[in-house]
Amino acid sequence: MELRVEQRCPQCGAPVVLAETDRLLTCPYCGIKNFLRSRGAFRYLLPAKTAGPERGELLYVPYLRLKSTLYSVSENGIAHRIIDTTRLGHPLPGLPPTLGVRPQAMKFAPIAPETGGSFLRMSVKAGALIENGAGLDGWSGNRGRSEYHRAAIGDTFSLIYLPLDRDISHLIDAVTGNPLIELEHLQSFSLRGVPFNPRWQVGFLPALCPRCGWSLDGEGDCLVLTCDNCDSAREVDDHGLRRMEWLVQPGGPDTSVYLAFWKITAAVSAPAISSFGDFIERCNQPLLPGPHWRDQAMSYWIPAFKVRPRTFLRLARAVTVSQWRLRPEEGHVVPGLFPVTLAEKEARQAVKVTLAACAVSPDAVHPALPGARLKVTARSLVFLPFADHGYELVQPHTGASVPGNVLRFGRKL
Ligand SMILES: [Zn+2]
Ligand SMILES: [Zn+2]
Repeated sequence: MELRVEQRCPQCGAPVVLAETDRLLTCPYCGIKNFLRSRGAFRYLLPAKTAGPERGELLYVPYLRLKSTLYSVSENGIAHRIIDTTRLGHPLPGLPPTLGVRPQAMKFAPIAPETGGSFLRMSVKAGALIENGAGLDGWSGNRGRSEYHRAAIGDTFSLIYLPLDRDISHLIDAVTGNPLIELEHLQSFSLRGVPFNPRWQVGFLPALCPRCGWSLDGEGDCLVLTCDNCDSAREVDDHGLRRMEWLVQPGGPDTSVYLAFWKITAAVSAPAISSFGDFIERCNQPLLPGPHWRDQAMSYWIPAFKVRPRTFLRLARAVTVSQWRLRPEEGHVVPGLFPVTLAEKEARQAVKVTLAACAVSPDAVHPALPGARLKVTARSLVFLPFADHGYELVQPHTGASVPGNVLRFGRKL
């Protein structure tokens, strides 16, 4: 399910329709690029069709929109599930428990000072929804079958407000105009919300290189922008555009795309793995350890783009196991850099799952995961070349491969 959101260009005011996961607004009218920022979740409104005589008195009820991929490691192996759901976030009776397919058919507006009305508070915790993943769309994962580890990777949260109106006797869905519940059943509930809070507004950050002032490059859904003038890469975080370490493995003449991986250097406490040599040994990888593998800190190579869970784990495993074949160089902008759509903090959530996926003998690794602590010592972004082999894109150094159409699908996750 994909939402469309109508934002306004902060420069010229033109309306621009974006996908829910888009963070870079490139205005087709004035050409200015801006990054969208939010304190906490982005907040959107379903457009009201009806409004009572006292327009502006609409009451907005929050729904939590959650997209994520859950991974569960147990004695049965690794299970995964894509979560894409919208849940009522308030105990008021008579309201639809989910928004169903409505979000697909509509264009959303970001919440703004002129919205008016009042807002019921969100009373459901997103973390609790994930934790109770068992209840999400009927998925039980491996729970109950000695689950060793669970991770939610690539989360997108937002709040969607459904506008409610009322007449003399009923609370009304202001999108459809349908009555929801008689007001007399709501006597023990407060129908007073809080007014608009300026903190809920979308903020904009001009996409200009802080170092040289050049316009940064990137597609709508990318989280890392590059500057082809000074070859720097910038990641958007709470403080602005942060410069980051990035590398590129040189490709050959048959390279068609460069896919990014987060290289997360980390020690795991159980099973005790701090060097690449430890990793090969504990995971029972059928490789003769190289001479310096015991001195080389262990890094986990996590795809920095969203793909289906099976492909995600396969890529992470292939590159992590064969990392010793790679010699990346300092980052410089080359044609074919595929957008980074998975944030580094999400990639960290994938380290233990990747370790689990690399274990040739799961019994030696998986049962240790509940007590495993992770100590991250370094991180960088590395672009690896992939050559087009028709149906598949293949990474020549590590043998990692990904079907080309899977990349396109992943951008909707
Ligand atoms: Zn504009
Ligand atoms: Zn620059």
